[in-house]
Amino acid sequence: MKYYILFGPPGAGKGTQAGALVEKYNLCHISTGELLRSEIAAGTELGKKAAVLIDNGSLVPDEVVEDMIEAKFESVKGVSGFLLDGFPRTVAQAVALDEILSRRGESLGGVLSIMIPDKLVHERIAHRAHIEGRADDARPEVVDHRIKTYHEKTEPLIDFYKKDGRYHEIDGVGTVEEVHSRIAALLESLA
Ligand code: ADP
Repeated sequence: MKYYILFGPPGAGKGTQAGALVEKYNLCHISTGELLRSEIAAGTELGKKAAVLIDNGSLVPDEVVEDMIEAKFESVKGVSGFLLDGFPRTVAQAVALDEILSRRGESLGGVLSIMIPDKLVHERIAHRAHIEGRADDARPEVVDHRIKTYHEKTEPLIDFYKKDGRYHEIDGVGTVEEVHSRIAALLESLA
């Protein structure tokens, strides 16, 4: 089984790129953001708690997303691997992921990091707000807080994964197809 992380700032295009990659390589796409939004839509207790945090651009507790990821690994069958999108987002989550994988006798295939400058992050999210109607995309102060949270809590993962050579960066500026080709080439070089 292959396990890959699709990494990058909010708006880098992780969700968009994941779509084509999972089909091409028979992977299961796990987006913690999407899983949380389904909990909110279903009105669960977890969803109610998560909504408050997501709506102000904060992260939900590590344990919540770690449990979601592990449950997915357990339940999804018939795929060649998993493509994680939006997880891990803190060093604690990255440590937990290594532990979860090692309990399963597995290890991470690599981190595929889609990099775009902050300026483009703002532009892409503003554009997406019109299309997808996500509440956390619509308010500039919430977007600013998410970008700040990314720099403070998520960016340290770059060094975490660079240390043991698991970090691979792709230029996320270009058309969807151009970025897809870069990631596909990287994935094939890692496999
Ligand atoms: P984006 O890529 O634009 O940040 P996501 O759909 O990945 O959007 O995430 C939306 C929100 O869900 C985040 O701002 C955060 O509040 C919450 N979230 C998603 N993944 C995680 C995670 N791994 N840890 C904590 N919170 C998360």
